[in-house]
Amino acid sequence: MASVDTSRPISVDALARAVAAEVPLAHALLVDCARRAIAAGGDVRAGAMKLARDLADSLVDDVVNATGVLLHTNLGRAPVGAWGARRSDGFRATNVEFDIRDGERGSRHTPIAELLRILVGAEDAVVVNNNAAAVMLVAAALAGDGKGIAVSRGESVEIGGGFRVPDVIEQSGARLVDVGTTNKTRADDYAKVRNDVALVMRIHPSNFAMSGFVDSPALADVVAVGVPVVVDVGSGLLDASCPWLTTQGFPVPPWLAGEPAVRQALDDGAALVMFSGDKLLGGPQCGIIAGRADLVRACAKHPLMRALRPGAQVMRDLQDVLLTYVGRTAHTDVPFWAMVTTGVDELEKRAAAIAARVPGARVVETSSLPGAGSAPSARMASRAVSVTGDVTERLRRHRPPVVARVEGSSTLLDLRSVSPLDDEVVTAALISALHA
Ligand SMILES: *Cc1c(COP(=O)(O)O)cnc(C)c1O
Repeated sequence: MASVDTSRPISVDALARAVAAEVPLAHALLVDCARRAIAAGGDVRAGAMKLARDLADSLVDDVVNATGVLLHTNLGRAPVGAWGARRSDGFRATNVEFDIRDGERGSRHTPIAELLRILVGAEDAVVVNNNAAAVMLVAAALAGDGKGIAVSRGESVEIGGGFRVPDVIEQSGARLVDVGTTNKTRADDYAKVRNDVALVMRIHPSNFAMSGFVDSPALADVVAVGVPVVVDVGSGLLDASCPWLTTQGFPVPPWLAGEPAVRQALDDGAALVMFSGDKLLGGPQCGIIAGRADLVRACAKHPLMRALRPGAQVMRDLQDVLLTYVGRTAHTDVPFWAMVTTGVDELEKRAAAIAARVPGARVVETSSLPGAGSAPSARMASRAVSVTGDVTERLRRHRPPVVARVEGSSTLLDLRSVSPLDDEVVTAALISALHA
């Protein structure tokens, strides 16, 4: 690095330039680090370097997910793949709210609604920033003026990240009407509060399961009570029969059994279904409300809609991912389904090729998880490259960082959640981690 004269007080600018040799950040950011280091006193050079490194490491950037958790909440859930590839040269606007046929203002929801009509049989749909926002908007738009929403005590859960069903309903201005008991709720329990509520809301408990003396009625039986039923299915599995897999020769993954799906919920009479874009759908972070046209319109017209709507990039990514389902290429073009459909033989081959180049590494059997609270007990057979000791910190220091997990006294890199294009990165990261 550039030499610094330590005999007199160093100037902010000289310190920033000295740090620039090792941490390639914009000069203005390095000047800020230099100022803060000088203000803190002590070894200003080391101080500025640490501040700059910490800042560089805190920036959002690519990492290789070798944890085997396919939808890792801390790693952005569904990874962006082919459908997220964009022009890198020049720039263009998008017709996100512009109808190119008549040159008039259009709706950003139109293409999504069309695609969901085909994929799940929904009359209409709108998109918001995440599924928590979808649940909030549905409650606010359909019962926000103090009307009741019936929720089973067994479904009045916390999903994680502070998403608690009773709190969301309270914030929406609606009134929570508890139904049934923690372990057992029957269709009759909903019928008892029929005249006190505008809606029944069912929530898939996702990352939480009860077993033993438990009961909850089939959706169709709740629909028969005669109050509109809105269903938070959470994970965004579009269709339980997975036609995007079965038409391509892949079976329906057994771990999906019991995972509620959008099409089936609508078929069973749900008035609206709410789900995440970045869980089993494999798309960008967003929340989708699909179902009865009059209720979707009420959501779209609510003042909160303007605050909750996603930007053009998200709408476009969601559209592109839905197009892969329609075109039956989700098994290759949606990274999540590509990871799911990769055969164990293929993973074994990749792991063996990496292990052959990393002294001391070996191939081990392991299992991957879908992640993001979907199908919490599900496991997929997988293969990992294993090395002795905990080298996870050194792997994270590689660029791009590789995120692995420790099991017993070994570090495991599960290849199911790694793109084959990153096998080289994984190999290089392991070699440097073991030689550090
Ligand atoms: C994940 C989940 C949510 C929250 O969805 P976000 O898109 O993370 O806001 C809400 N409800 C259920 C049932 C979920 O599984």
